[in-house]
Amino acid sequence: MVVTAQGGNSLARLALQIKDLEAQVKTCQLCRLAKTRTNAVPGEGSLRAEVMFIGEGPGYHEDKQGRPFIGAAGHFLDELLAIAGLSRESAYITNVVKCRPPNNRDPNPDEMAACAPYLERQIEIINPRLIVTLGRYSMSKFFPGERISQIHGQARIVDGRLCVAMYHPAAGLHQASLADIIRADFRKLPVFMEEAQRVLMAPPAEVVEERIAEAEAAREFVVHNPETGAVLENVAIYTPAPAAAEAPTDLAINTAPIVEEMKAAPPAAKSKKSAAKKDSYRQMSFFDL
Ligand code: SF4
Repeated sequence: MVVTAQGGNSLARLALQIKDLEAQVKTCQLCRLAKTRTNAVPGEGSLRAEVMFIGEGPGYHEDKQGRPFIGAAGHFLDELLAIAGLSRESAYITNVVKCRPPNNRDPNPDEMAACAPYLERQIEIINPRLIVTLGRYSMSKFFPGERISQIHGQARIVDGRLCVAMYHPAAGLHQASLADIIRADFRKLPVFMEEAQRVLMAPPAEVVEERIAEAEAAREFVVHNPETGAVLENVAIYTPAPAAAEAPTDLAINTAPIVEEMKAAPPAAKSKKSAAKKDSYRQMSFFDL
């Protein structure tokens, strides 16, 4: 068997990790749902899944068979996956709680909290590009305080990963008007998957900030000579030349005799002046006074 690497994890290693997690879920006693379940339902799908669907909890059929989304809602999910160009085999499907709440009641906050580490570990192992929450309870984990009626079909980056909130497929079965809305949301998934790839490839925000800070710091120490364009390694060595006065042409003609007079002056007089000037820079003494 050829095993290829994925982010440093071989397929065989991923399979071992997910099997280990499934074994833990199947014998878990961390919350009261363990007492009423027939089978725990860890989840199933591809270890290389690019999309992970997260529902609320197993229903009657799922509890009986130990598999997620196999009842009527599961059949609708199959239709929705096909709309998005996906299949059960190419995705990974799981729930917020792995055991069925009695009479299909909503999962309690403490049950969701007790079960959360399993979901987090699944996300870590599968490492999907895109997470799709199905229903209010899985939505609340990734989009706390939001309303499903307002954010369904919208994607946001949560912890560096693109997440989309969708209605639960069962909602489309109970309310016919929602079924078309759910289908329309699933049609957007291919676009979200492309966007998810871009998000995964982008460096994390802290790395971007670090790079901007480095670039700004570097810019402070790189100064270009505006006359030659050359990079000056040390700002201190560049002293801009004083701007040359633009003398009008007629003034230049009038000053010509003065220039000629300066040229004719004895060289000794010039050097004497120059030496005196140098001395005045060098040191001031009483001889200069
Ligand atoms: S719902 Fe989760 S935490 Fe509760 S018993 Fe089942 S696996 Fe354990």
